[in-house]
Amino acid sequence: MGIESLASLMPVPDLLQARRVLCIQPHPDDIDVACGGTVARLADAGAEVIYLTVTDGGAGTVEPRDESELAAIRQQEQRQAGHILGVRDYRWLEYRDADYLPPQDLQLDLIAAIREVQPDTVITLDPWLPYEAHPAHRNVGLCAAAAVLFSGMGNIGGRTAAPHGVSTVAFAFTARSNQLVDVTQVWERKEQAIRAHASQFPEATWGFYGTYFRQRAALYGEQAGCALAEALKVFTPMHLHCNVDAEWL
Ligand SMILES: [Zn+2]
Repeated sequence: MGIESLASLMPVPDLLQARRVLCIQPHPDDIDVACGGTVARLADAGAEVIYLTVTDGGAGTVEPRDESELAAIRQQEQRQAGHILGVRDYRWLEYRDADYLPPQDLQLDLIAAIREVQPDTVITLDPWLPYEAHPAHRNVGLCAAAAVLFSGMGNIGGRTAAPHGVSTVAFAFTARSNQLVDVTQVWERKEQAIRAHASQFPEATWGFYGTYFRQRAALYGEQAGCALAEALKVFTPMHLHCNVDAEWL
């Protein structure tokens, strides 16, 4: 008996079958960069995609500048980018970007959001990406994973909303992908969406970023047997607790 037979006991859902998808990101732009092509494919297939952004993005600058002004710009950029991909519903938790995120508050907020939005699928960032140094990326991924685990459990997270179980969770920016999504047909839209975040991807840096994103997608594409792909780690909530095989499934 090998790992394959264990894997068949705990099958991983097909992400593209999702119908109502809550994308939880630390900053405006993370989901668009990590898996904007997958978002476009889901929206094109008729899924409702909801973006929940945790921080206000006010720290996303090299030169010091007014935080609330930058936050307003970034919210607008996110709406423009999401519109290109087919996202119509935006929620904002507006934690201050420059602060350390309080995990207990954030976890409760994310449980509440899942219960309110009632998605079948949550997409967030992989908090177990080796060498990820940004605390907001690690903490949002961890709190979102915990919220997926707990949103269906009635004694956790307060009793303001009815429990809601999620069937699928997918982690983007992952080093342990188990699903590759062909994004060849939507790649131009993904690039447009990323470039809509003009405060983060000015013309001067696009030579590097545009090339890197495309070459990375082409490498995933080689694995997937298509031109350009995105890589995600897709799970059910069962994989998120005491599961010694999850890393390799
Ligand atoms: Zn980010």
